[in-house]
Amino acid sequence: MTEPHPDGYQHTDRHPIGKRDATDRVHDSDEIWTPTWSREHLGEQGSRCMDCGVPTCMGGCPIGNIIPDWNDLVYRDDWRAALDRLHATNNFPEFTGYTCPAPCEDACVLAYNDDPVTIKSIERAIVDKGWARGWIEPEPPTERSDYAVAVVGSGPAGLAAAQQLNRVGHHVTVFERDDELGGLMRYGIPNFKFEKWRIDRRIDQLAAEGITFRTGAGVGETVDPETLTDDYDAVCLAVGAQAHRDLDIPGRELDGVEYAMAYLVQENRRQAGKEQDDDPIHAADKHVVVLGGGDTGADCVATAHRHGAAGVVQIGINPQPPLDRPADNPWPEAPKTYHKTYAQEEGGVQEFEIDTTAFQDTSGDGRVDTLAAERVLWSYDEEGNRVSKQVLESDLEIPADLVLIAIGFTGPDGDPFADLGVGRALDGSFDTDERMMTTAEGVFAAGDANMGASLVVWAIGEGRDVAREIDRYLTGSTDLPASLRTHNPPIAP
Ligand SMILES: Cc1cc2nc3c(=O)[nH]c(=O)nc-3n(C[C@H](O)[C@H](O)[C@H](O)COP(=O)(O)OP(=O)(O)OC[C@H]3O[C@@H](n4cnc5c(N)ncnc54)[C@H](O)[C@@H]3O)c2cc1C
Repeated sequence: MTEPHPDGYQHTDRHPIGKRDATDRVHDSDEIWTPTWSREHLGEQGSRCMDCGVPTCMGGCPIGNIIPDWNDLVYRDDWRAALDRLHATNNFPEFTGYTCPAPCEDACVLAYNDDPVTIKSIERAIVDKGWARGWIEPEPPTERSDYAVAVVGSGPAGLAAAQQLNRVGHHVTVFERDDELGGLMRYGIPNFKFEKWRIDRRIDQLAAEGITFRTGAGVGETVDPETLTDDYDAVCLAVGAQAHRDLDIPGRELDGVEYAMAYLVQENRRQAGKEQDDDPIHAADKHVVVLGGGDTGADCVATAHRHGAAGVVQIGINPQPPLDRPADNPWPEAPKTYHKTYAQEEGGVQEFEIDTTAFQDTSGDGRVDTLAAERVLWSYDEEGNRVSKQVLESDLEIPADLVLIAIGFTGPDGDPFADLGVGRALDGSFDTDERMMTTAEGVFAAGDANMGASLVVWAIGEGRDVAREIDRYLTGSTDLPASLRTHNPPIAP
């Protein structure tokens, strides 16, 4: 092993924490990740960071993680200080350390013409060590205010908002309609990407800090929305964007045509040993077609393989992205290039530019068995919208005993908050102003509910920002930090 070196990138190649062998991991639902590297190895990897004058990695990180600092602290073997630096900008670094697609690495200066620093691996190693050493403990506030805040939804946005607000002394109650806390991290993201005890451990910390959690408390279901505004001084809607986008084509009503989320939620409940639906969705021995080329689709592909599907085809309507950055997508922008997903590493076929035209039941038993489709070539307008198509191959027939629709989300589902005066923006998310306040006085929104379906790291940033705005709304000023998000300007003090 080479010695760590301040200009380590000249001496050491990139070696991120890896994934288990695809042919092994596909047979179980344990996490796909390999254990962390040794501290020496991580120190070497940290030494590849150049401590750039303009740390573009921080600009690439939606929460502005102070990446060069903790890379250097790991290189210097000061893990405790590295953990503090990590927590300065991120309430839950293990949520991102395990799930984040790491836009910071794409923006790393080394990525201009070399392999980037293993930022995500180092983040994960720091926080794993923090938990293993018992350094992560409840931090209850020293003083309490007289203000009470209701947070609706317990995904990463709601949990981050709750922790920030509680730490400045407000009384925080989290309302969650599910039987367990964590939002899409609990029932969306599969166990093999993110094991759920990691959420439980944080919930224990938050509860010990004084946050009240109410599960099975769906606002508009068991909780009257008006109790929120009557009983609390401010409300934070962190209810996600879980309304499905549907595909209204012939045969949509057939058995076996399901939303991806119905499938993934059931599987997460199965993995947790919870009660199953009477009519479970299972892929064993089935020809599975996943509609949608994104992450939700990938998670369906991987789940179907673990179920023992006879075959899995993932279909995207858009063209396959290029392997290298196009000229109009230079570094340090997020690259619009093709990456084979972990799911495709495990098997299955991926098709692009396929337009599905019908779900068919050729045997007449009420169940889908075939997907009818066309291979197409799209033309686009200047905004990148599809405007017309040329059919290259019509009458495609793809065997499909189970079709999983994973073509995105249209905003928060249901509308229990409309009676409070909470309006919607054109994209379906809640309509908020620059303070993240909705059209209802004192009712704020954060996370996917505010910005549309996104990523865990954005949700945490939104949670931190909305806490700052709510604290300022309640008290007239705030010492809570802004998240330094790059795509929305930082909120002015
Ligand atoms: C299948 C899948 C895989 C994903 N994988 C990744 C990944 O690998 N990496 C990544 O960064 N991101 C991933 N994401 C995206 C990420 O999970 C979300 O962006 C993130 O969870 C959004 O957080 P949130 O707190 O805004 O909302 P959510 O996590 O959606 O949480 C919202 C919560 O609000 C609750 N709620 C809703 N309505 C009410 C109500 N009326 N009353 C009470 N409670 C209510 C819901 O039950 C839910 O628990 C994935 C998403 C999906 C669907």
